[in-house]
Amino acid sequence: MLAPVSEADAGERALMLLGIESARRWRTFAGELLDATGIDPGLREHGTLIVARDGDEAAALERELALRDRMSLETRRLLPSEARELEPGLVPSLRAAAEIPGDRCADPRALCQALVLAAERAGVVLLEGAEVFRIVVEGDRAAGVELADGRRITAGDVVIAAGAWSGLLDGLPEGARVPVRPVKGQSLRLRDPDHDPAQPLLERVVRYEGGYLVPRGDGRYVLGATVEERGFDTTMTALGVYELLRDAAELVPGLLELELEEAIAGLRPGTPDNAPALGRSSALPGLVWATGHYRNGILLAPVTGDLLAGVLAGDGDIPAAFDPNRFAGVRA
Ligand SMILES: Cc1cc2nc3c(=O)[nH]c(=O)nc-3n(C[C@H](O)[C@H](O)[C@H](O)COP(=O)(O)OP(=O)(O)OC[C@H]3O[C@@H](n4cnc5c(N)ncnc54)[C@H](O)[C@@H]3O)c2cc1C
Repeated sequence: MLAPVSEADAGERALMLLGIESARRWRTFAGELLDATGIDPGLREHGTLIVARDGDEAAALERELALRDRMSLETRRLLPSEARELEPGLVPSLRAAAEIPGDRCADPRALCQALVLAAERAGVVLLEGAEVFRIVVEGDRAAGVELADGRRITAGDVVIAAGAWSGLLDGLPEGARVPVRPVKGQSLRLRDPDHDPAQPLLERVVRYEGGYLVPRGDGRYVLGATVEERGFDTTMTALGVYELLRDAAELVPGLLELELEEAIAGLRPGTPDNAPALGRSSALPGLVWATGHYRNGILLAPVTGDLLAGVLAGDGDIPAAFDPNRFAGVRA
């Protein structure tokens, strides 16, 4: 999901603004990747529905909408009947609904394939499967990396973009670390064997208390996701699958007819304040951070790329809220 408005939190204003800015850049970003590679990152602009099942959820939804009204974010309250006109796959017993027209989705796997090809065509050398064993520090600066197979790669700048593993890399002085932790998310990939493009089960992203359904537009759906603090565990659990399917089927019963293609757990890279760490380390010259994107790394991809390009070229400023040095003294 590219969902800065749905995910907005009053206490995370800088992050929300960064998300909105990145969402604004997404269409150009997707177009540039398509032109450069012929791979479509799957941007879908059908908007997002947020739906509530009962009175408590409806009251919570109204509080969230009021918050967005105060922040002048675009939302549209819908009667349950209006939500069902937009998405006939929703249950008749809905209590409340809202549309977030600007929140969209993309296909992160297609995005990664496109980025790999675009980078290679631009002259980037990718060493697939190469594990960085440690950051090499020479004198008082980061000077490259040492791989697990013993190879050394020297560099004027080293960018750490190792997701949830970013806090584990060897070789860094303690004061130069960013505390990133893994936040597990279990999700399911479903496929409609009878997909009719004229009458899909869902057209829009549907979000609700405890999960979401993202249509890919070709009969495939992503059903996500749990949020669990379980270290680097990526096992799928019976409870996780049960809760995902139970909550989603209460709202979109037709999804129980779908084929289960894949069950997969991933790790979101979280920082103590949920905001990413972007830019130069003041503790170790030559070290640059691009990590901690937590729930929004796909949304934030274009703005992160642009900001980091500016930092590396020496002409970019990063908002203080994302300064990697704000965590000085916090243990990884
Ligand atoms: C279930 C789930 C749902 C999500 N939904 C959304 C969403 O709807 N919208 C959104 O915007 N974001 C979403 N996210 C978050 C998004 O996936 C992350 O923010 C994003 O993947 C972070 O990107 P990254 O490149 O920093 O880290 P990653 O994608 O984790 O990539 C880090 C890479 O570094 C590699 N690596 C680690 N250590 C080393 C090493 N020592 N040497 C070499 N390579 C190394 C890893 O193998 C990995 O390939 C979701 C995440 C999960 C788990």
